[in-house]
Amino acid sequence: MKANGLFTDTNTFDFFDHKIVVEKGHFLTLEILKAPFEHITVNFINPEGVCFFVTTLKTRLQNFKLCENITPGEWTIKLIRTCPVPSKYTKDYSLEIDQVSIEKLSEYKDYYSIRSASTDIHKFTNSTQKYYSGDIHLHTNFSDGRMTEQDLLDISRLRGLEFLAPTDHNVWTPFNTSMPLIPAYEYTPDDFGHFNIYGISEDLPAISLYENSKNLTEALQHLLKYRAKNDLLISINHPFCSMCPSARNFNLKNIQLIEVINSPSSETEITKNNYALQAFDLLWSHGYKIFGVGGSDAHRTIVKGVVRPGNPTIHVFADNNAPVALLQGIKNGHTYLTSNVDFSLKIVHQNKEIQPGTEVLGDVQWHVSSDISLHWNLIKNGSIISSKEGMEFIFETNLEKGDFVRLEGRTKQNEIKVFMNPIYNSLQKGKELTWFNILDQIGTNPRAI
Ligand SMILES: [Zn+2]
Ligand SMILES: [Zn+2]
Repeated sequence: MKANGLFTDTNTFDFFDHKIVVEKGHFLTLEILKAPFEHITVNFINPEGVCFFVTTLKTRLQNFKLCENITPGEWTIKLIRTCPVPSKYTKDYSLEIDQVSIEKLSEYKDYYSIRSASTDIHKFTNSTQKYYSGDIHLHTNFSDGRMTEQDLLDISRLRGLEFLAPTDHNVWTPFNTSMPLIPAYEYTPDDFGHFNIYGISEDLPAISLYENSKNLTEALQHLLKYRAKNDLLISINHPFCSMCPSARNFNLKNIQLIEVINSPSSETEITKNNYALQAFDLLWSHGYKIFGVGGSDAHRTIVKGVVRPGNPTIHVFADNNAPVALLQGIKNGHTYLTSNVDFSLKIVHQNKEIQPGTEVLGDVQWHVSSDISLHWNLIKNGSIISSKEGMEFIFETNLEKGDFVRLEGRTKQNEIKVFMNPIYNSLQKGKELTWFNILDQIGTNPRAI
């Protein structure tokens, strides 16, 4: 069955339904023949009205089959446009939606099996309690990236990464590898705010999100509430990126993470990441325990001769390498970030080793060594209290009620190369804040029109 349609730009959202009756023992296939860009999603809704899986129109894996037992009956293939289609893209689409019997399935061997793979988030292959290195912001050919499952494995081996979280735009990347993968996606309704959502066990409830919302700000609030209820981790991505800054308002109480290093360094990114760090310190000053994270946001393995994945790398202290244990480490802020720096860390409190993100009272020492000389700052309650230059040293301070202390390493050009989440004590929240309150205080105000 061929499904065609034309998107408008006059409505806030566009919804297109295409129905297909699936017989018992048959599989659904989808081929994208012609389509505009990636933010438009294709949602497969089973006869009970449950959204079974979501893909995007710009995926480079343009052919799909659903490999689980398909409930026979009437399926709805729903397309959702959440933002205007940029003028460089065509507004019309054409899809081939069909059903095939098991006997005919072999003819579709090149099709990607959407549900044949799913990560067991409790499975681990390393039971050592230690820091695991990974990249938690990457795009594969499941949305607008170029990397295949094999590319991810190859590049991880090269970069010494031990886990990944592929964060494709609006879709869950159902890879199943021997390497631990944190299930995640990047919620990308348009270019005015992206959020990574970690720990998902199902597709985005895209239909209810948009059908019950007047606009994207409202849809975002619904999403944040839904995700908070389901105990997932949400990060504010590249908050000051010039192309897609976080420019919509939302309540900060449903946010657990903020990206303080996104993508490799360039002149402009130094400023962007520094604004993100400023936002980070302000959040903590107001009692918001929102931990810093980072990721390469790589769409390809190599750009202009530079290997992208793993820059920056997030190091997560976890009991083992199961995705649930890694998620727990990220949630608790037992993490630090490095951008192409070999770095080792030991934080000591009362003769015991502790991890970033720990709540303690009293004296704390940071024992640090790195393979390059950096400018190091110890930052207490948002202000630098001590600075050192070099490769190996010890910092020391005392934590009292309401204090938070973090350590960072920078180049001479003020580029952040090492970020460590704070050690803190009894943070007190004042009045409830929104994201725009933070932007107001920084004085740089990207706002969605
Ligand atoms: Zn993004
Ligand atoms: Zn991204």
